[in-house]
Amino acid sequence: MTVAAVIVAGGSGLRAGGERPKQYQIIGGRPVIWWTCRAFLEHPAIDHVQPVIGEGHEALFAEATDGLGLALPVIGGPTRQESCRIGIEAVARHKPSHVLIHDAARPFVSPSLIADVMNWLERFPAVVPGMPVAETLKHAPGGVVSRTVDRSGIWTAQTPQGFRFDDILAAYRRAEAERFENLTDDASVAERSGIPVSMIPGRPENRKLTTAEDIAQADRDMMSVQLRDRPDIRIGQGIDIHPFEHGDAVVLCGVAIPYSQRLAGHSDADVGLHALTDAILGAIGEGDIGTHFPPSDQRWKGAPSRIFLARAIELLEAKGGILAHADLTLLAEAPRIASHVAAMKAVLAPILRLDAGRIAIKATTTEKLGAIGRGEGIMAFATVTVRLP
Ligand code: MG
Repeated sequence: MTVAAVIVAGGSGLRAGGERPKQYQIIGGRPVIWWTCRAFLEHPAIDHVQPVIGEGHEALFAEATDGLGLALPVIGGPTRQESCRIGIEAVARHKPSHVLIHDAARPFVSPSLIADVMNWLERFPAVVPGMPVAETLKHAPGGVVSRTVDRSGIWTAQTPQGFRFDDILAAYRRAEAERFENLTDDASVAERSGIPVSMIPGRPENRKLTTAEDIAQADRDMMSVQLRDRPDIRIGQGIDIHPFEHGDAVVLCGVAIPYSQRLAGHSDADVGLHALTDAILGAIGEGDIGTHFPPSDQRWKGAPSRIFLARAIELLEAKGGILAHADLTLLAEAPRIASHVAAMKAVLAPILRLDAGRIAIKATTTEKLGAIGRGEGIMAFATVTVRLP
């Protein structure tokens, strides 16, 4: 059995709200699609993982799955059906005997469910996991009940749905040739071609994330698993200060704020990122920013400070740790910072692998007291909570 997995992430996912499509929103510190792809990449019986993404999502996808070692994505079509067909065509070159097709918006897929689908595929041509409907079903067009539907034998369908490769490829090509569109799952395409489809028990936790509330709940669930596995709680603290010099913008938390001066320093002098970097390094006992990036090293001259922060996260992850929260206070008389906080959080969230709701950025003046009060520079204080195994 040679098995390819096609991960369908073509949708715009706008029902979930937010600034990015739902499959790229952060749950448990990683984008939804990262968890989904990793589940298949790490499964020992899956040979190829092929993502299908929406047009214009190339950069989002590259950022979300950086480091996973995934195959290049293919660009899907206007409907789920068309995106699946494109994904299936893309894995044909690997000549798989079977293919599993899975929604990117189901990140809680378990290794045991993937194994169940594959075991059934040894004996049956098409397998769909699902849940028998437990609640009473009402047919209520316009909100008025016309009848109660007999729920016996009624299942909801989940993914991954598994097929013999040649069968499903032919079924998709046939549906396309006959211009039969908008089939909402792969089994429907198979059924239309007369392929018998077996239904097996899915998993209640393998739900599809659709709404903003689904995403929020998934973040809580994924985070609680992450925290449960990391009982060692560490608090880290970091402080940094840089003086002003003549310039035209101040870079704070990766965001350039137009101003009559800039911060002086060896790198881009981003005090916010430096304080956060030191707080993380402090929590894991790995020295400070100068240990890893000595100012004497010409490589870091003018460097964007996000590479320092990313390195601290890398060291944290090498210990099996995660960040649970970050709180940053910026002390400055000027420029005004409040209106840039949302943009700063958007920069930090993917680097820290934290939902924006777990990042705080506060700004205050010092009531004109001291060097900061005289407008000679900007200071930053960071506190982070780190969880280690
Ligand atoms: Mg510094």
